[in-house]
Amino acid sequence: MTANLLDFDLEGLAVFCERLGEKRFRATQLFRWIHQKGASEFDDMSDLAKSLREKLKAHAHIQSLPVVSQHLSADGTIKWLFDVGAGNAVEAVFIPEDDRGTLCISSQAGCAVGCRFCSTGHQGFSRNLTTAEILSQLWFAEHFLRKHLKVSERVISNVVMMGMGEPLQNYSALVPALKAMLDDHGYGLSRRRVTVSTSGVVPMMDRLSIDCPVALAVSLHAPTDALRDSLVPLNKKYPIDELLQTCIRYLAHAPRDFITFEYCMLDGVNDQPEHAELLIGLVQFHARQGLRCKFNLIPFNPFPASGLLRSPQERVQAFAKQLQNAGLVTTVRKTRGDDIDAACGQLAGDVKDRTQVKARIAQQRMIMLRAVNEH
Ligand code: SF4
Repeated sequence: MTANLLDFDLEGLAVFCERLGEKRFRATQLFRWIHQKGASEFDDMSDLAKSLREKLKAHAHIQSLPVVSQHLSADGTIKWLFDVGAGNAVEAVFIPEDDRGTLCISSQAGCAVGCRFCSTGHQGFSRNLTTAEILSQLWFAEHFLRKHLKVSERVISNVVMMGMGEPLQNYSALVPALKAMLDDHGYGLSRRRVTVSTSGVVPMMDRLSIDCPVALAVSLHAPTDALRDSLVPLNKKYPIDELLQTCIRYLAHAPRDFITFEYCMLDGVNDQPEHAELLIGLVQFHARQGLRCKFNLIPFNPFPASGLLRSPQERVQAFAKQLQNAGLVTTVRKTRGDDIDAACGQLAGDVKDRTQVKARIAQQRMIMLRAVNEH
């Protein structure tokens, strides 16, 4: 069994090179070939000695996840579904905007947290992704986009870990992937352009603040423990006050940053003026202890098993206004890729039926043609 080099950050690759009897600096060359140039064949790495390329061929490979399907939305959003074996699939979504290109990626096949409003949570947990499986979503998407847009410079400027899974419940695979994203010899993304979204795994938030303090988004969704217990089951273990104290500690390691609180707007559940009032009180209390934050209100994407409905647009706007009037920076997430179901876990459920995979691959080819023509 040879090693998949997408499994390593630069330090891990240096250790691997040493084990092969090579100098550590070879790892930098190799890392650049893989992540900056998108090479998957050692023979393409022209500045590596032939003897090293032969050694690498014997001991390593560069293998991205197989693509099951890809969909291009009318608004330019692209969604890929990757096969992770045993009938499971994970998704990554590219969202182009005027001033940035954001890739949303997955960290687990399924999720064990079981948030009530999340279709991934309703599918249950299958397994953690490896570092290679996390990183290959970025590797594939970046080099796919460069190829089809016919550009040599970076296309993806921001990465958000908001696809399937709770990233902080897959910590040991997550951190090397984050380090590769930040590495100047890898993707060179700035710390503030890589966001980990968590439902509030308190001990791992503390560890991340030390190991790799990237931008943090916290799924809050409720102003009280009673309500949050019913929406985010992890709240029973790490209630709101403990969560917000952890956010304050996190910010001490991320100067001038703020925490983004995600708040999914659920009709009649958490979207009333009294909820906004409680939220304002909660945040203002913790702001006095050093909490810096902003809110991102997310229009809920309904799915039948949730028994929940999307808040009407006017209520979302009124809620946003109430927070803004209290001095809280608040945005409402634009819905993107609606025509391709580009929301957490919505497509991955479909692919459980492996008999559809061949049809999807055929469909993928058609869509590729369209993608190439449209760019
Ligand atoms: S919202 Fe995130 S943490 Fe909650 S169930 Fe979905 S994927 Fe898991």
